[in-house]
Amino acid sequence: MLEKIINNIEEYIKYSKENGASRVELSQEVLQQIPILPFDLSDKPNQNAAPQKQPAPRPPIAPQQPTYQKGKEHLEQNTTKTTKPEQINISQYSSPEEGLKKIAEMVTNCTGCALGKTKTNFVLGEGSLTPEIMFIGEAPGADEDKAGRPFVGAAGQLLTKMLAKLGLPREETYIANILKCRPPNNRKPTEDETKTCLPYLEAQIELLKPKVIVALGGTAVNSLFNSNFKITEQRGIWMDYKGIPVMPTYHPRYLLRAQTKRWETWYDMIEVFKKINKPLPEGIK
Ligand code: URA
Repeated sequence: MLEKIINNIEEYIKYSKENGASRVELSQEVLQQIPILPFDLSDKPNQNAAPQKQPAPRPPIAPQQPTYQKGKEHLEQNTTKTTKPEQINISQYSSPEEGLKKIAEMVTNCTGCALGKTKTNFVLGEGSLTPEIMFIGEAPGADEDKAGRPFVGAAGQLLTKMLAKLGLPREETYIANILKCRPPNNRKPTEDETKTCLPYLEAQIELLKPKVIVALGGTAVNSLFNSNFKITEQRGIWMDYKGIPVMPTYHPRYLLRAQTKRWETWYDMIEVFKKINKPLPEGIK
């Protein structure tokens, strides 16, 4: 316990210094105000961890009771022949589940860009079919490409851990990416790839109707808004996507390196909770 408190204070001093403070007063009053550490900041993510195992197949989910959709469950059938997405009209689908299944079929057949040829699995997204919070990342990495699921590698573990500290199982959120297929060597998506793939994500957002979106990293923000922001300048400032509040924050991959920046994403997440009146765990404010 004592070690944890000292660690907390050390990290607070480090954070204050990095943010321009030349001295940090540690009176009783200040000590009491130091927020609970969101992470053990010295935690090293387990780089060698295997991607989480695919869960056993679940029984079909009744459309009236949408709960949770794992990465590849919607792939059994492949009937829709689509090669390149245009704007997807979601009103033709009777439920988010049906819509996501159809989108998965479209992505399976997508020849909109070359990434479909180099990928192992596409990664549509996964999570609750009635999410309050939707996370949007950039594109699948190597682990996600292997697993067909988003954010299962080191960056994903960090995200999952942060959500757990906030008392939010990741299954209660929905997690997707701008691109559904991995760019070779994790290079940044090109403008063409983004433009081609975006209709899938737009349809996912329309189907899932999250109360709030968290855009993870500059690529996610700029792709969603066709903008050219620097995430360092834009993070923490609410944006609006078709009436849905969007919180831009750092990508967890960046946070693996920039450990003290984790505080900022932590506070962004607290703002997200406040925006939708979601109770925070005791002691977190
Ligand atoms: N990075 C992303 O942007 N998305 C993933 O799914 C994994 C890593």
